Amino acid sequence: MLAHGLGGDVLPVHPRSRPDELLSSWLVRLARANRIKVHALCARLGGNMAPVWNRDIDRMAPSWLIERLSTLTGRSSEEIYQTTLADLADKIDTDHHPNGNSTWILPLGIWHRQRLKFGLQFCPICLRTDEDPYIRRSWRLAFYTECEHHHTLLLDRCPSCGKAHAYFRGELGDRDAVRAPSMAICSHCGFDLGFAPADRFEWPDWQTTVAVRTLQFMNDFGWSILGGKTYEKSADILLVLRRVITILSSPTKDGQLYDAVADQIWPQGYDLLGSRGEPYERRGVAERNRLFGMAIWLLQEWPQRFETCVQIADVRRSYFLSQASSRLPTWFVSQIRGDHRPAAMSSQ
Ligand SMILES: [Zn+2]
Ligand SMILES: [Zn+2]
Repeated sequence: MLAHGLGGDVLPVHPRSRPDELLSSWLVRLARANRIKVHALCARLGGNMAPVWNRDIDRMAPSWLIERLSTLTGRSSEEIYQTTLADLADKIDTDHHPNGNSTWILPLGIWHRQRLKFGLQFCPICLRTDEDPYIRRSWRLAFYTECEHHHTLLLDRCPSCGKAHAYFRGELGDRDAVRAPSMAICSHCGFDLGFAPADRFEWPDWQTTVAVRTLQFMNDFGWSILGGKTYEKSADILLVLRRVITILSSPTKDGQLYDAVADQIWPQGYDLLGSRGEPYERRGVAERNRLFGMAIWLLQEWPQRFETCVQIADVRRSYFLSQASSRLPTWFVSQIRGDHRPAAMSSQ
């Protein structure tokens, strides 16, 4: 029941969003707390066309939706915006386009209400141990491949039916149902995702483990640390990692950098990439995890490791600067160009 009706002002119950909760997850909990169907809430939020679930609202964060939610819940628009991926993209990706793909954000591949791509990851143990399971914003971040609490690799599909997790669909198809299963349940087959098997991935040494986790789990994106150095802007280090990942996975001969790095990290043998030239965000969890960590490994002990591997793989140095070079940090550009400035790594 609504105190003033949906056309009116404030919903009687408006649960606060949980730590790192994604907008769409909060929307589902908001509807359920008020005993209305998610579907009905969205129809009223968006008018008759209800263009909510047939687009990626978390990434696009339409202002009409945020303002309407602000009116209905009494929470500020800024607070609601902070639950979106658009807010995240603002901080880490200066090339973010509201209607296009965003670097580091996993695409959902929405077609009507279906998700054709596996753009939402989840940690089964988080879902199992949550009092009221909810979806984290970090789970849509492409390099966030391990749970920061449980250190297990995330999953991107239901292990029982193989489909993407559609946590907002629990009640669709049943016109009268307001009660819906928890967001830990696969809406396609009913499997409890909290009991999905979780794997761990171990880097061969603690220095790499710490360096990878520090960057994977950064949460304010203001500054970050790599190889004992502090960077004022995480976006800078992410730009460099992006260039390195592009070359590690390149279909050209420069992609031999992958083998040069992997051979040093795993001299006993290593996994190959399933495909070359595939964009990072379209790869599976294991490959994204591996590529991100390999790029970080390469930037440690700067610049010795980097120079050794670039030489072994015979990579064209200019390739590192072929895109976004004006935005790449000076320490990286000057090393590539061979300026050999002392203490080139510090951006401060
Ligand atoms: Zn977890
Ligand atoms: Zn399933």
